[in-house]
Amino acid sequence: MKKEQISDLQYLKGVGPKRAKALNESGIITIRDLVYYFPRSYIARDEAKTINQIFREIAETQNSQSQQIFDFTLQKEYTLICKITMKQVRQFSRKKLLQLTIYDGSSRYGRINFWNRIEFFEKIYQSGQYIVVSGVPEIDYSVLTFTHPEIEIIEPDEMENFQKGAILPKYRISDAMRRAGITMNQLRSIIRNAIANFKEFEESLPQKYLDILKFPSVYDTIRALHFPKSPDELSAARYRIKFEEFFFYQLLLTLNKKKIQTTERGVTIPAKSNLARTLYASLPFSLTNAQKRVIREICDDFGSARPMNRLLQGDVGSGKTIVALLTMLIAIDAGYQVAIMAPTEILAEQHFLSFKKFIENAKLDIEIVQVVSGQKASLRRKVFDDIATGRAKIIVGTHALFQNDIPFNKLAYVIIDEQHRFGVSQRAELIEIARKSLGDENLSPHILVMSATPIPRTLTMTAYGELDVSIINELPKNRKPILTKVAFDDTRDEIYSFIRSEIKNGRQAYIVYPLVEKSEKLELKAATEHFEFIQREVFSEFACGLLHGQMFWYEKEEAMQKFAGGEFQILVATTVIEVGIDVPNATIMLIEDAERFGLSQLHQLRGRVGRGSEQSYCILLTKDKFKSKMKNIDENERLAALVRLRTMERTNNGFEIAEVDLKLRGPGDILGKRQSGLPEFKYADLVEDREILEAARSFAAKIIEDDPNLSKSENSLLKNQVEQKFSSSENFYGIA
Ligand code: ADP
Ligand code: MG
Repeated sequence: MKKEQISDLQYLKGVGPKRAKALNESGIITIRDLVYYFPRSYIARDEAKTINQIFREIAETQNSQSQQIFDFTLQKEYTLICKITMKQVRQFSRKKLLQLTIYDGSSRYGRINFWNRIEFFEKIYQSGQYIVVSGVPEIDYSVLTFTHPEIEIIEPDEMENFQKGAILPKYRISDAMRRAGITMNQLRSIIRNAIANFKEFEESLPQKYLDILKFPSVYDTIRALHFPKSPDELSAARYRIKFEEFFFYQLLLTLNKKKIQTTERGVTIPAKSNLARTLYASLPFSLTNAQKRVIREICDDFGSARPMNRLLQGDVGSGKTIVALLTMLIAIDAGYQVAIMAPTEILAEQHFLSFKKFIENAKLDIEIVQVVSGQKASLRRKVFDDIATGRAKIIVGTHALFQNDIPFNKLAYVIIDEQHRFGVSQRAELIEIARKSLGDENLSPHILVMSATPIPRTLTMTAYGELDVSIINELPKNRKPILTKVAFDDTRDEIYSFIRSEIKNGRQAYIVYPLVEKSEKLELKAATEHFEFIQREVFSEFACGLLHGQMFWYEKEEAMQKFAGGEFQILVATTVIEVGIDVPNATIMLIEDAERFGLSQLHQLRGRVGRGSEQSYCILLTKDKFKSKMKNIDENERLAALVRLRTMERTNNGFEIAEVDLKLRGPGDILGKRQSGLPEFKYADLVEDREILEAARSFAAKIIEDDPNLSKSENSLLKNQVEQKFSSSENFYGIA
């Protein structure tokens, strides 16, 4: 079968055996593959800018950047259509330079510089040729200059189409293709032939939905993606292909969600709880409206006889912990055990201690235990014993909670705190453990996933798309916004004296710096040295503590306790304090080499202050050299660092910060390990195509609402598609 297809390709007009082989090596085996080899970008005369326009845009951003650093965009790629008017080889002391002069009829001319492979380029480019140039230009001695840009020569006949407003596709030309002499032009005509010869355009959406969505047919979509007759036709085609990509994944998520709702039974937990009431009465504050609303949402799930699957999002400091505790008490009152899983031992410890404190303050008699690694065997035995008999009501731990054979007793509610990967397979494991403890094959536990920082909406809809979402969009009233300032190295002394005066007023400070060493040993050394410098040279009059990742958990605990208790005025720390630590009297966060941190990391760190009623400050210290453009730092890196720092300065809103972070880093980096559960979107983009995603999601929801199993005949095509696309994925629950 495959062989035939190869020869298929070989006999396509313009291909032949040699080129067929090159295409094969590039992953294009069949005519179908060619048909689906979509352009990487397009050149449209209407969209290309002139040399003069580009020159002005760049000059303008350069001017505004010096005044207002956070307003820039990252270096931009431009495309222009022009003619080569002159070709020149210039000899410098050591190096040769090939320089093309380009002109496009606008009021400036431009240049293209080649410093490498000069002989090669010299043969290709000639005066009089029309070319399309794409790249990141600079203004060099008042001339718009590209260095080794991407260039495509346009044949005279194509130039004619172009003038008439045609849009030309640009494909990725692999090395193998290039070696076989396949030019962009030739690939265009090969693909044109492939489309003309291809007989199997199969619809992936039922006609009924194509009509509702006003989508072009599959044939028209594909043809327009390659050879659009107009910008409108192209955008309709792109919309359809992106929509579909999102849509089938949303269909899968909605199916999974529906399946849980219709086939699984949840433990029913009444909302009325004396324990929760007593604890609430003992709090020194009242809940915000957002906290109350979220608790209500959770109680609705508890009472619904269906298992809860909910994501709780709230900004740093919005008070997720107390929501977790109050809802745990509700489940405990109904006779169940609850567990909370934290990402690190230090955070598990924090939860353990703060829950304990809340419970003691309320004079409640509830046993809470901790399962961490490194516990003494005798203690571990006692803890396990208490869990098995059901005396222990709240079990706090790390992921070890669900790996060791812990003898849970009626575990009905599980909270997953902060940034764990939590996909379908994790849920399945957890359910099994809970079911065993409940002694009922058919009962599922309630699950609440809490995220440390807000997640951009497009990511919530995909990576956590099968969870219901609760949002705490309000901070407690006693909070003053944290003042954040970016500072450069040359003001270090002023900063230290500011910290000194704050501490003299009774406040405490964190000094955080990044880990940059290559080995743990070096890291440890750097951490210790830095600490000693701060303690001896800078703040010898104060007591400083050290907290870093190489310490044992009980050492960390001790350092934390001493800081929380006021024995240390300053805590010098690495990012281990990033999550969850809560010391309201700490009002200063000094972050050194702040340009090295990611945006959400900075926001998390900053969230360690501003937790009490005093004014808090966050100082982002960075090197002088980040102030202005310099040869020894990559300009895009520098700009991105400044965007991060200035964004922190501009806003305290974690939801806003999350969106900027997504733009800077892309979804894969933000989700970290979670990305393994996220499909790769080939055409659609989670940053750019948010509206399409929303539309695809609600369309999928409507269909599942009407036909929960996709069992109606009109939906059989959809059902096949979902099965085909996802049956081998770990996120596939199967269709009933
Ligand atoms: P996060 O959402 O970042 O986990 P926490 O749950 O740690 O935030 O809460 C931050 C601090 O705010 C804690 O000291 C907590 O006791 C306190 N807090 C929580 N809710 C309120 C509220 N409604 N009013 C005042 N303080 C609150
Ligand atoms: Mg927290």
